[in-house]
Parts: sequence; structure tokens; C-alpha cells
Amino acid sequence: MAKIFTKKCPDCDGKLVRSRGHSAGYAMYFWTKPWDKTFIKGLTGNSKVYPWLCMNCGRVFLYVDEKEQESIKREYEKKKMKI
Ligand SMILES: [Zn+2]
Repeated sequence: MAKIFTKKCPDCDGKLVRSRGHSAGYAMYFWTKPWDKTFIKGLTGNSKVYPWLCMNCGRVFLYVDEKEQESIKREYEKKKMKI
């Protein structure tokens, strides 16, 4: 059985369960760094975003992959001085 990722719902404290994939059919969920000028589709600039469904209230939340979010945050803190 595949690993199931969960976290707490920010609205109702229910259990959020991450979607198996970050895309479905032609729908792609991604986030692009607004400061990244060297945008090459599929290589840089895009961050994987996963939909998470709350098992209690049925809301769907979108979160960037945690490891990616950490590195984007570090990059943002550096760039922030110039923005
Ligand atoms: Zn909820």
C-alpha cells in the first residue's frame, strides 16, 4: 500500500489526506516563483503543488511540497531585500 500523507485541517482540525498525484489529466497544479526570470517550462520555476482533502469538512487545500517550500522560503528571504 502506498504511503498516505496526512496533516491537520487548518479550519476544523480534521484530517487532511494528500492526493496521490499533483496533476490529473490536463489539470496541472503548480506554483511559479514571481522573481524567477529564467523560466524554462518543466525545468525551473515550477513547484509541485498537491491538493489535500479534509476527511471531516470536505474542503480541499493546495500545498507546495514541504521540501520545496523550505528552499523557496530561503530564496524568498534572500530576494525580499530587493522586492
Ligand atoms: Zn476540515
